[in-house]
Amino acid sequence: MKIAFIGLGNMGGGMAANLVKAGHQVHAFDLSEAALAKAREHGCETFSTVPEAVAEADAVVTMLPNGGIVKSVYTADVIGKAPKGALFLDCSTIDVATAREVAQLAGDAGYIMVDAPVSGGIAAANGGTLTFMVGGTAEAFAKAEAVLKPMAKAVIHAGQIGSGQVAKMCNNMLLAIHMIGTCEAMALAEKAGLSPQKFYEISSKSTGYCWSLNDYTPVPGVGAASPADNDYQGGFASALMLKDLRLAMEGAQGARANVPLGQHATKIYEAFVEGGNGAKDFGAIFTTL
Ligand code: NAD
Repeated sequence: MKIAFIGLGNMGGGMAANLVKAGHQVHAFDLSEAALAKAREHGCETFSTVPEAVAEADAVVTMLPNGGIVKSVYTADVIGKAPKGALFLDCSTIDVATAREVAQLAGDAGYIMVDAPVSGGIAAANGGTLTFMVGGTAEAFAKAEAVLKPMAKAVIHAGQIGSGQVAKMCNNMLLAIHMIGTCEAMALAEKAGLSPQKFYEISSKSTGYCWSLNDYTPVPGVGAASPADNDYQGGFASALMLKDLRLAMEGAQGARANVPLGQHATKIYEAFVEGGNGAKDFGAIFTTL
C-alpha cells in the first residue's frame, strides 16, 4: 500500500518506520530537515511538499502538534491533492470540534476519514505498541484498522467521527487526576510516618490501586520503574499533559459537562508548567507536594 505520512516528530518518526517494516511504501513529509533525514534512514521516501507526498497515496496518516495545524494541512494540501477515495487517518491529539470539521470537509470532497489518536508514548510509537482509539463509520474503521495494525498493540473502534478524540481527552483527564491523587497519597503517607515503599506495597494491592501507582510509581526508587527514577526525564512531558487537559476542558465546555476535578488538575499542571517544568514527566507533580 502507498501511505503518505505527514509529521515525523517524536511519535510520527517511529510510526512511519513501523509502516515501512510492515512492507508499505511510505511517502513522508515534515517541515524539519532532520526529521526527513531520519525517515530516509528508516526506508521512507521523502518529499519537499505535502501535495507531492500525498499525490499517489492510498492512505494519508498525519501526526501533527495541534488542531490548527491539522486543519491547515488538510484543507490547503491534502484535500483535493490526494487521489479521490483515499483514506485519511489523523492520529494527532486535537479538539473534537476540529476533528469533526476536517472529516466533514474531507467527506464532502470524496474521501474517507477517521480520527485515530493514540495512547502510549515515544517508546510505544517506536515499538509498534500504541493503542489507537478510532472514530468513524464501521466501513472506515475496517479500512483504517489494516493501516494502523503495524503500529499498534490495540486498535479500538470508539464510535462515530470525533469519538477517538473524545476517548483520548477523557482518558488523559482521568490519568492526570489519578496521577495527582497518587502523588498526594504518597506524600501524605511519608509525612504521616509510613514509608512510601510500604504504602506502595499495601495500596497497590488495595482499593487505591491504579496505573499511576502500580505501573508508573511517581516516587524515585519506589514501586514500578518510571521516569521518577531518572529525575523525571523522558516519559510523558507535563506540557503535553497540560495540552491534553486544556483539550478536555474545551470538550467539557462544548458538551456542557461538569468536570470539577478535571478543572483543578488543569490548574495544577498550568502552575507546574508555568514554573518552568514543562519538559519534566507529569509524575513530577510529586516534587511539589
Ligand atoms: P513533535 O513536535 O515531536 O512532532 C510533530 C512534528 O510535526 C514535527 O516534526 C514538526 O516539524 C511537524 N510539523 C509541524 N507542522 C507541520 C506541518 N505544517 N507540516 C508537516 N509537518 C509539520 O510532537 P509529537 O510528540 O510527535 O506529538 C505529535 C502528536 O501526537 C501531538 O498531537 C501529541 O499531542 C500526540 N501525542 C504525543 C505523545 C508523546 O508522548 N509525545 C503521546 C500521545 C500523543
